[in-house]
Amino acid sequence: MLRTPRPGDGACAFCEERARCWAALQERLLPAAEAAYARFLRQKKEILWSAHAEGRLFFRCLAKRDVLKALEDGVVVEAQGRTVLVFTSIRAGRAYRPLHVVLSLDAPGRATVVTVYDPRSEAWRWDASLTRRVCWCDREEVDALWA
Ligand SMILES: [Zn+2]
Repeated sequence: MLRTPRPGDGACAFCEERARCWAALQERLLPAAEAAYARFLRQKKEILWSAHAEGRLFFRCLAKRDVLKALEDGVVVEAQGRTVLVFTSIRAGRAYRPLHVVLSLDAPGRATVVTVYDPRSEAWRWDASLTRRVCWCDREEVDALWA
């Protein structure tokens, strides 16, 4: 029987092959992306926020300055062209909550925040560490499977 995705499960039978290919691709892309991100953090001159990211900040009650601070401790977990997915965490009262920041490294020292989200909001997409993508299924598909 196929294993269906479950939040934080770290596996989806439907996406298994894709996850394997994706992991292999990321393994090749990450070293350069990590270097580019480290360079950006050193040079950091300008950060732009997409309209989508601005909306997400408002909706999720996040302050830009907190996201910027979180980026300092961020780790690149995915790369696609000049766009990187940074895993970090943000202070929420006494606790820390995980945060994903999609960042486009536009030019030396300049980046655009494409979007910001808590990966637990779509937990089935990620492994337990929330750094490795394991599923590309839609929420409707996952909901239908577990209904
Ligand atoms: Zn899946």
